Amino acid sequence: MINLISICNNSFTGTVSSSINYLKQFLEDRGHETTCYDYFYTLPNPVFIRPDHVMEMNIIPEFVKMYKNWKKNLPIIHNIELSQIDQIVLKDLFSDLKYMKGNIFGFQVSTVNLGYSIIAAMKIRQMYKDSIIVFGGYHMSLGLENKVAKLLLKSGVIDCAVRDDGSEPMLKIANNDYEEIMSGKFSVDIPHPKYTKNDVIETNPVFPSVSSYGCPFKCFFCASKRDNVFGDLGSFRDHLLHCKDLGFKGTEINDDNLNITLSRAMEIADIMCDVNFDYWTGWANQKNINNELMEKFHLSNCKVLMIGIECFSASVAENMGKERIIKDVMNTIDIMVKHEILPCMTLITSMPGETEEEYEFTLKTTIEIRKKYGDKVIFVPSIFQMYPGSDTYNNPEKFGISFEYWDGNILPEFGEIIETIPKTFSVGISNEKIMERWKQLNAESYSKRIIIPYSKSKQKRKLIR
Ligand code: SF4
Repeated sequence: MINLISICNNSFTGTVSSSINYLKQFLEDRGHETTCYDYFYTLPNPVFIRPDHVMEMNIIPEFVKMYKNWKKNLPIIHNIELSQIDQIVLKDLFSDLKYMKGNIFGFQVSTVNLGYSIIAAMKIRQMYKDSIIVFGGYHMSLGLENKVAKLLLKSGVIDCAVRDDGSEPMLKIANNDYEEIMSGKFSVDIPHPKYTKNDVIETNPVFPSVSSYGCPFKCFFCASKRDNVFGDLGSFRDHLLHCKDLGFKGTEINDDNLNITLSRAMEIADIMCDVNFDYWTGWANQKNINNELMEKFHLSNCKVLMIGIECFSASVAENMGKERIIKDVMNTIDIMVKHEILPCMTLITSMPGETEEEYEFTLKTTIEIRKKYGDKVIFVPSIFQMYPGSDTYNNPEKFGISFEYWDGNILPEFGEIIETIPKTFSVGISNEKIMERWKQLNAESYSKRIIIPYSKSKQKRKLIR
């Protein structure tokens, strides 16, 4: 029996977590009984405490204390300061651990929930001595040389770190034939989860789906280095029809970009027209948006497209690896508004090389667009971060970025690894300035009137399936 655990940030649409449900289906299709434990909370984003912190392992001081407690067989979180949200998350997780059957525990790890996953892994070690603990998911996939994985393996907190698709590696683990670090390949045979009517009742009537993996583009801040694999569209269509029969009203398509090629996007639009949900949404690339595609998307009830714009400055965009001609962005917004699809455009402030003038230009353009279109277009600003595996992380000097590393003396046993983990970074802009920019951009990006269709987002809930 395999237990899969995900702790998800539920601040946006509040749908069920997707990747562990795909993993569960893959394992069940091969005869392994598997249970998914999804914990949904609105998790605080550590960037807003210190924007120069590298999130890779920003809990090193807590890790050191927990590790020492664990070695002395004390309660792991003894003497650790916990926020109210930490206490809520851990109380639920710890109480469920008592009932989890089987000795394989797989965690879906993201930058935000790494701390919780480490605490739970240590607790499992104390409760079930012979358990196999596996960390996979986006965070563990970052970088060719994942130092966090090395630290967790060497300290004995986990047994295995999995990169990219966890399906085949998890099958090997279930057959007790595994290595410490394994990589899985994404395949065209996507194991779409067989949801039940209960999932419709327990979650939103909107479910996550996927038709492709990876992305051929190379934005400098992005750690997504997965090969681009197009899944089979026939089984994607059957899956959507099955979910509609169950009572789901819509889907969020989680492909990195839906329109990597226009012909593929047109085929997806045809499928969405046939299936005829009330609502669907996805991520798209700005360059491949045109009238014909948006007309089809509109007919198939696409309501929102997320688009990574990041900034309006041509030179920062070029540096970032995205061609950005402002009149093309304006044209994209015009087309989408005409077809009643909400462009939800991400912005990243304080990227390497962004001058005050360039930031001002992005702010001014954001204000102008919002003045012209009101709530028919929204922006989602965030602060530049360093992700292992990204070009900015691998070649900091090239982008004028400097790192400060953790002090290995904090835990000499693993000092050699700890002192290779970056603690903070600098792009030459002060933290105060970065926060001021983000607050200004945020204030101009959306209005409080925006309601996300079907959102049932709550502070806290969980789903066991
Ligand atoms: S940011 Fe988006 S478009 Fe750029 S490389 Fe990453 S997934 Fe691809």
